[in-house]
Amino acid sequence: TPMIEARDLRMVYNQGTDPVLALDNVNLDVNEHEFVSLVGPSGCGKTTLLKLVSGLASPSAGHLNVDGKRVSGPQKKIGFVFQVPALMKWRTIQQNVLLPAEILGMRKAEALERAQELIELVGLKGFEKRYPHELSGGMQQRVGIARALIHDPSILLLDEPFSALDIMTRGQLNLELLRIWSERRKTSLLITHSISEAVFLSDRVVVFSARPAKVLEVVQIPLPRP
Ligand code: ADP
Ligand code: ADP
Repeated sequence: TPMIEARDLRMVYNQGTDPVLALDNVNLDVNEHEFVSLVGPSGCGKTTLLKLVSGLASPSAGHLNVDGKRVSGPQKKIGFVFQVPALMKWRTIQQNVLLPAEILGMRKAEALERAQELIELVGLKGFEKRYPHELSGGMQQRVGIARALIHDPSILLLDEPFSALDIMTRGQLNLELLRIWSERRKTSLLITHSISEAVFLSDRVVVFSARPAKVLEVVQIPLPRP
């Protein structure tokens, strides 16, 4: 069975007063270890889909299974990388990476060991005791990636993780993400406005198209992987 299975997924915000149809009958399967990119115009519902997969919001209708189970509420299986990493400035890099581990109550020794491993994986060895303001934007985003992986999630959700960065840093982080992904093989869903980024990183690109009525269409393009 697929790791993520969406069937006739529908999401309406402000039901009743001023309804916004964000997702209309979305069908999507993502297999374990697959890297899928979501592209489409602003406001077409990409972030909404990630919120539903992560359990931060519930669909208005349809079915959504993650790892064979119906999604209900926030899930430990998910790691989320945001557009801006929103690091806590009074916490060191190591303490920032450890934050989800603390929230989820992971054993401290195990969490510390994983944090060190991940900090090295994202190329920040030596920066453990530094503070976010001492790091460049690209480095901060790498901290965000390490933080998303600390609890060993089976799924990694990335919402335009590099869009705030300059083009060189972005290109470098694309390479890094591909390397990290090929080591860990998390089932990944990436939102991006860059088709080349989508093609470079993913096994499949899912194209969302907005319509006047905000109805969604999902077209899946299989790509050969290098
Ligand atoms: P995308 O990520 O593709 O830019 P979003 O999923 O953020 O799109 O938004 C899809 C649509 O739903 C947009 O029209 C947006 O304004 C609307 N929307 C998103 N979140 C909310 C919300 N919490 N309440 C009301 N409308 C929302
Ligand atoms: P994106 O970068 O995906 O386009 P937005 O800037 O559209 O994100 O939205 C940022 C946040 O505001 C999201 O959490 C989204 O759910 C929320 N949001 C977007 N549109 C609305 C809306 N019309 N009403 C309430 N919340 C909204």
